[in-house]
Amino acid sequence: MAKQIIREPSFPLSSYDLVPFNEKSSGYRGLITLPGYVPRDLSPDSVNIYAPIVKYKPGHAEPSIRLNIPVMSAAMQAVSGQQMAKELARLGGMSAVYCSQAIADQAEMVRTVKRHKGAFVEAEVVSPEDRIEYVAERMRRTGYSKFFVTEGREQHGLFLGIITDNDFDEKIHNGLTVRDRMRPVNQLDVAHDRDIGYDIKKANDWAKQGHHSALPILYDDGRLRDVIFRRDIREHREHKTEMLDGKKRLMVAAAVNTHDYKERTKALADAEVDLFVIDTSQGWTDYLEDTARHIQKEYPGMPYIGGNVVSAEGFRFLVEKCGVHGVKAGMGIGSICITPHQIGIARGQDRAIEEVSLARDEYFRETGVYVPIIADGGVRSVRDMLVALALGADTVMLGRFLAGTNEGPTEINFNMSPPKKPYWGEGSARAKNWREKRGYNYEFDEGVEAWVDYVGPLERYLNQAMMQLKDGIRKSGTYSIDELHRYAVVEVISEEDASPSVLSEMSTK
Ligand code: IMP
Repeated sequence: MAKQIIREPSFPLSSYDLVPFNEKSSGYRGLITLPGYVPRDLSPDSVNIYAPIVKYKPGHAEPSIRLNIPVMSAAMQAVSGQQMAKELARLGGMSAVYCSQAIADQAEMVRTVKRHKGAFVEAEVVSPEDRIEYVAERMRRTGYSKFFVTEGREQHGLFLGIITDNDFDEKIHNGLTVRDRMRPVNQLDVAHDRDIGYDIKKANDWAKQGHHSALPILYDDGRLRDVIFRRDIREHREHKTEMLDGKKRLMVAAAVNTHDYKERTKALADAEVDLFVIDTSQGWTDYLEDTARHIQKEYPGMPYIGGNVVSAEGFRFLVEKCGVHGVKAGMGIGSICITPHQIGIARGQDRAIEEVSLARDEYFRETGVYVPIIADGGVRSVRDMLVALALGADTVMLGRFLAGTNEGPTEINFNMSPPKKPYWGEGSARAKNWREKRGYNYEFDEGVEAWVDYVGPLERYLNQAMMQLKDGIRKSGTYSIDELHRYAVVEVISEEDASPSVLSEMSTK
């Protein structure tokens, strides 16, 4: 007989329309948060959705990383590239840049995000000796149209000029060098570190007087510090929720696996990533402990999250044996996941969040240390976010919910009506291409490829969702996620009410 038989069923947060299988099962049920008493002063603006993602001692210290909105983007090829990471950090959340890619490519993505210092950006530099063909190719690869010319292509080398896509014609100027076509520094507007420091207002005043859309900032000795784009100044002003590190750069997390973690953590630490996410589908393993110990030893002080687990024992293992700073909960419940069908290991996400959160609360009572929980997978709507948070999660990790935004790394298919974007699991055949390159030899898939509706820019979509979430928290009668944990009431709704058509209607409202 099994060690234990739990006769109380666990549930997904809500039913799925699985594409392409389209398994509309009427047997699925979902959960919903009940209304609570709403006092007069409880307005949506008074609701606080700050969320810790690393452990801390409440009453003694603040968490070293606290998100301004309780959202992380999933470590997936179809979700968390550099565009998503930049924009989500600007909006107050954080991305886990996916690790199913070459180490150098992942580190480069992290570096690109870290180049954003509020509105002060590390420049894309070229050398005066570089050939025009090289510059044209780099422009195509990066999507940037302006490069900054420094001696020896040094990031902070002597600043010599700017070259843009208007300064050359690839066919005509083939064979020439940057020096032949650049606009030299004596013809440009520049600002100095001593005059503007990192003061956005001063930079803006300076930039307004100049004629160019980008303003290089130089040290006294003529070396390039960074640049500021007028467009970014505007955006910076509009993003009061930005997640910034101590040097005012955007923050970003990166996933690492339990195989090539030694080389990967090194490259990511060199790229100055803010947080590691040890990304495994089953986190209650010796492999995770090995990875955690390596991080502890080599990068003391660097926070790392571990997962995924779905039980109190899993939580204790990660926190006590592996020393993780945050715990990711969820298994077999992602929208593109077929793990339960393929290997029969999973747990309904309501019970997973509940049990892991109870273990977190017990651990807090014992030690005074609060270990935040990230609910990962199966969150398809604001309704699911509210339920996941009410059940005890501090943040949610989103794959499908974000995959249809402009910032998702995939192409929009406008031939479909409405337009859609592809979304695939990290364990699907599509992601497996990379896995096989790494030498894995899985004979079956644990994920599928699907289509999600194209939903436009992340900013509009997520801001709307966060407004809805705040209103949901308010109508549950609470002021914050912390209060939601203590006072919310969650209920299982009936099979009829939870039929997929009702749920998808609810999720679009
Ligand atoms: P979603 O937000 O419901 O789409 O779920 C996203 C989560 O599913 C990710 O953060 C992972 O934890 C998980 N996941 C990603 N790819 C796969 C896969 O191929 N099989 C199973 N789970 C996956």
